[in-house]
Amino acid sequence: MRLKNIPGAKEAVQESGYVVQEPQALRGRWRESFGMEAPLYIEVGMGKGRFIMEMAQKNPAICFVGIEMYDSVLLRAIQKKQELEETGVPLSNLKFIRVDARLLPEIFAENEVDRIYLNFSDPWPKARHDKRRLTSRVFLQRYSQILKPEGRVEFKTDNRTLFDFSLEEAEAAGWTILQKTFDLHHDPEMCRDNIMTEYEEKFSSEGNPICKMIIRR
Ligand code: SAM
Repeated sequence: MRLKNIPGAKEAVQESGYVVQEPQALRGRWRESFGMEAPLYIEVGMGKGRFIMEMAQKNPAICFVGIEMYDSVLLRAIQKKQELEETGVPLSNLKFIRVDARLLPEIFAENEVDRIYLNFSDPWPKARHDKRRLTSRVFLQRYSQILKPEGRVEFKTDNRTLFDFSLEEAEAAGWTILQKTFDLHHDPEMCRDNIMTEYEEKFSSEGNPICKMIIRR
């Protein structure tokens, strides 16, 4: 998601109390920072944050961190969180960080994260960009460094080519495919409690089936 550069977005993100400005300083201490001994779930590439905000509302006993690399996109999530809190929806179990996911192992300690969500990650269609895909083996290795042994990655996309690539990468990297579907919205078991993302709403309303996989290292 590349919104047009919004003037002042960088400054607004830097000033926002919802954004952890020095996330490396919380490495190994994320739960403590939330003030609760609870599972820690992160979403990488959260976009405008619809998914993680709904997750945080429905799961107040879980700590959530939403990660986005672009200021203009993150600003939309900040504004939405503010609107929700103004209408009385407490989201104290959700923090944001503005960072490139390549830095994840500098931000989270070994065994610190219980679950990683990847929703409609950028496909990077050119072969020479395959290492930028968030489900490439390079990224899976980064996730291995921060996930608990029983931790899992949940990935949704409408892009079948990216999905097939992701399954191959997971298998090649020795991950276990716990569940997969090529048509999430017609899979009663995997679709139970599904929370739609912005992209999911758009692509499924255009008639595109949504693929989902759940993997464990
Ligand atoms: N997850 C949202 C959804 O499903 O509606 C947004 C999907 S959008 C296609 C992908 C998002 O991932 C973009 O906002 C992009 O900026 C972000 N992103 C891509 N690569 C990233 C990276 N390496 N680190 C952090 N965010 C990234």
